[in-house]
Amino acid sequence: MAEKLHIVGGGMAGSEAAWQAGNMGVQVVIHEMRPKVGTFAHQTGLLGEMVCSNSFRSDDSEQNAVGLLHWEMRQANGLIMQTADKHRLPAGGALAVDRDPFAQSVTDALIKHPNIAVEYGEITALPESGQWIIATGPLTSSALGAAIANETGAEALAFFDAIAPIVYFDSINMEKAWMQSRYDKGETEEERTAYLNCPMDKAQYEAFIDTLLAADKTEFHEGQTAGYFDGCLPIEVMAERGRETLRHGPMKPVGLTNPHQPDVKPYAVVQLRRDNKLGTLYNIVGFQTKMKYGAQTDVFKLIPGLEDARFARLGGIHRNTFLNAPTLLTADMRLKSRPNIRFAGQITGVEGYVESAAMGLLAGRAAAVEILGGALDMPPHTTAMGALITHITGGAEAKTFQPMNVNFGLFPPVEGLRGGRRGRKDRYKAYTDRAKADWLTWLAPQAAAA
Ligand SMILES: Cc1cc2nc3c(=O)[nH]c(=O)nc-3n(C[C@H](O)[C@H](O)[C@H](O)COP(=O)(O)OP(=O)(O)OC[C@H]3O[C@@H](n4cnc5c(N)ncnc54)[C@H](O)[C@@H]3O)c2cc1C
Repeated sequence: MAEKLHIVGGGMAGSEAAWQAGNMGVQVVIHEMRPKVGTFAHQTGLLGEMVCSNSFRSDDSEQNAVGLLHWEMRQANGLIMQTADKHRLPAGGALAVDRDPFAQSVTDALIKHPNIAVEYGEITALPESGQWIIATGPLTSSALGAAIANETGAEALAFFDAIAPIVYFDSINMEKAWMQSRYDKGETEEERTAYLNCPMDKAQYEAFIDTLLAADKTEFHEGQTAGYFDGCLPIEVMAERGRETLRHGPMKPVGLTNPHQPDVKPYAVVQLRRDNKLGTLYNIVGFQTKMKYGAQTDVFKLIPGLEDARFARLGGIHRNTFLNAPTLLTADMRLKSRPNIRFAGQITGVEGYVESAAMGLLAGRAAAVEILGGALDMPPHTTAMGALITHITGGAEAKTFQPMNVNFGLFPPVEGLRGGRRGRKDRYKAYTDRAKADWLTWLAPQAAAA
């Protein structure tokens, strides 16, 4: 009987890896510790749970690298993308989903799959033999984390991201706030009005920044602040970098017109995005924070429209465990010192739900092909998948390695195109056209073999 594939962790990466390998005819066992052992961020025992934002970010496959990654995963029959499409919520150009039904559907699809079994329980040691994928994510249990650190000898890096707060819609003052997506982006009226906007004038913005800077924050112990990931900076850290930083980041006032005062241009705008299908919850976009809970409510109530806001969840901080992948992993995601073990997901040093699922897709396929007696070439660097895997397994500087989102900076340049801002649209289109063609070429022999 053919060897089984064991996958540790049924999050974004583990779920996708299992789906891909199971569909290729390989017997898969997912080992998931929840609900027996929890993490501070997961709320359920479901597979594929989204721990924070309900967004898979931009769905634009022509002009955005994460949108391109969506496209590539859809072409490869990706579970995370097809389930996200089923539970999509209006969110302008972004792919946001109703999180609980999403995770329930991922769980159902895996449990019902004839080639996939789920065993609930924590894995605490590195397996000695057999084919394994470790996809235990940023909140890898401490026993397994210690076993990995023991094996690799390399220091596991730890740093902090932060969770954005969630507000009850019925506590927002809509006489001050209004619904509009930036630049009215979207095909339908629902999409064009997917965001809830709270405007600030200059005095309100200055007062907000003063209070934010003075607010009580969770202090880190020495050695814990190994550096924030720049895409996920807490708002108070952004404010500390300069009083105007937030106005050029999550609070930028562009592409929006306040219908309550159409002639007054807001000085800053706080945006909230729908967090569930019912429309009862909204998260404050980009407002991840490490302020103490009491301080958070004081600061957020200064936002016009949120004076009486009730919070379903306040912001928080979390640890992120990831490997120094450029030194530890082979190009096909194996641990160099134990080639029977692959790693996938955020623990490999990618950042984000989509990137984590993407690395699961590749690891699942690579392990399945190997069990079936072959060897899978990794996708070309010109694709979004290829750009990411190339980066983490060799392209990145090992000494300064930090988690990475997919972005066009990871792609080899397309020659002969105009540089700078003016050429950007054509350049991105050229990247994504090339990536799509190369991705389909890479997929074709695998589809033929299936
Ligand atoms: C608090 C927090 C908020 C985040 N917010 C966002 C966000 O808003 N947007 C975004 O794109 N990304 C976010 N991320 C980053 C990251 O993309 C997600 O964590 C993503 O879910 C990572 O996918 P993964 O499959 O690698 O890990 P996970 O989805 O976390 O899956 C890992 C799974 O492994 C299980 N597990 C862990 N240890 C063991 C063990 N020893 N034995 C068995 N099972 C185990 C866990 O229970 C979990 O189900 C956030 C991360 C954290 C921690």
